[in-house]
Amino acid sequence: TREKRNDESQERNTSAHFSETIRRDFPIIHDCIYLDSAAISLSPEPVVNAVVEFEHRYRSNVGRGIHRFTQIASQRYWHAHEKVARFIGGEEGTTVFTKNTTESINMVAHGLSWKPGDRVITTILEHHSNLLPWRALAEEGVELSVIGIRPDYSLDLKSLEEEIKKGARLAAITHASNAIGVVTPVKEIAKICRRYNTLLLIDAAQSIPHMPVNVGDIGCDFCCFSGHKMLAPTGTGVLWMREPIIEPMMLGGGMIEEVHRDGFVPIEGYQKYEAGTPNISGGIGLGVAVDYLNTIGMEQVRCYEEGLTTQLIKSLSQIEGVTVFAPTDSSYRIGVVSFSIKGLHPHEVAERLDHEYDILVRSGHHCCQPLMESLGLPNGTVRASLALYTTETEIDLLAAAVQEITRSL
Ligand code: PLP
Repeated sequence: TREKRNDESQERNTSAHFSETIRRDFPIIHDCIYLDSAAISLSPEPVVNAVVEFEHRYRSNVGRGIHRFTQIASQRYWHAHEKVARFIGGEEGTTVFTKNTTESINMVAHGLSWKPGDRVITTILEHHSNLLPWRALAEEGVELSVIGIRPDYSLDLKSLEEEIKKGARLAAITHASNAIGVVTPVKEIAKICRRYNTLLLIDAAQSIPHMPVNVGDIGCDFCCFSGHKMLAPTGTGVLWMREPIIEPMMLGGGMIEEVHRDGFVPIEGYQKYEAGTPNISGGIGLGVAVDYLNTIGMEQVRCYEEGLTTQLIKSLSQIEGVTVFAPTDSSYRIGVVSFSIKGLHPHEVAERLDHEYDILVRSGHHCCQPLMESLGLPNGTVRASLALYTTETEIDLLAAAVQEITRSL
């Protein structure tokens, strides 16, 4: 028993050291407990500094002109694309910078040419951003099938395969749910898709910031995610594509080789998907966010956050009147823990946590209304979502606050 206690205390020390070092880079969190990282993560100082440096020292457009400022900006902006590609195991030149995951998904939905009778498969787990763009295709005669989940929140892979077998052009599936934290077996799904010649798009908005993701290893065709959820500035997102098989959604400056009176030649490769002046400092900041995550290591991030997630699920589950909606299998979940308190609306819980305890969580349907309805939770849930800067103490304080609130009812 003593050995076990020693092991546990050593683990706690290592973990405390991990978060202490990291927290110095996030001064914003020093007077509250931020547990809403699934909505938007915080940015560490190196990312903030990169944005400030752009504004102070070389603010200019990219890919236009040849002066010294634009050369620095262009070099850093395009280099950031390569950093992101390497970070997710993609080939050089295969990433497109967008505003966010929503834009990336819409680019694919608009950029493929559809014909009546084409089918798209998606799941009940999806964020509205990976549902509405596909629903909109119904006007072009595209059919949509929505796969359900089992009581343990895992995807029903058998139904998925049956639907794909019927013939599907594309499957659009989340890698990790932003509402209940379940991780889907994307590698297995990719195998099924390949068997039936179906394209696979993964919504990796919640996986990339929290675990190693390798698009080559997974075998998907499109991977969409948001920079602002992975420590980067707001207004940054990524569309990775195995091949540039879609038509650009937007035309204009920055994506052409030549324009003549009656035609134009687009740039070769992925740059043709970035028409107009992009979010330059944001993109450069995204490159720095990737450097930051690489220095820590995504395996380490995953392991650290899973420890906290287990602690949180355990503590909340022990409180009378609290129901936790989270997968039990630790290898198939991320640090997104949804729960409810009997007799209180999720918004009331979130408000009390903020006003009385300085704890910031999300409440409501988390942009997953169909999922919440299917779980019989029309008011949604309270959601605590973690990141690499979250500490064990913060998890304990949340659990204590929830306990106090339930006792006060
Ligand atoms: N998909 C998932 C799984 C998400 O969690 C989110 C945001 O919470 C989105 C898509 C949409 O991301 P964005 O608002 O950055 O476009």
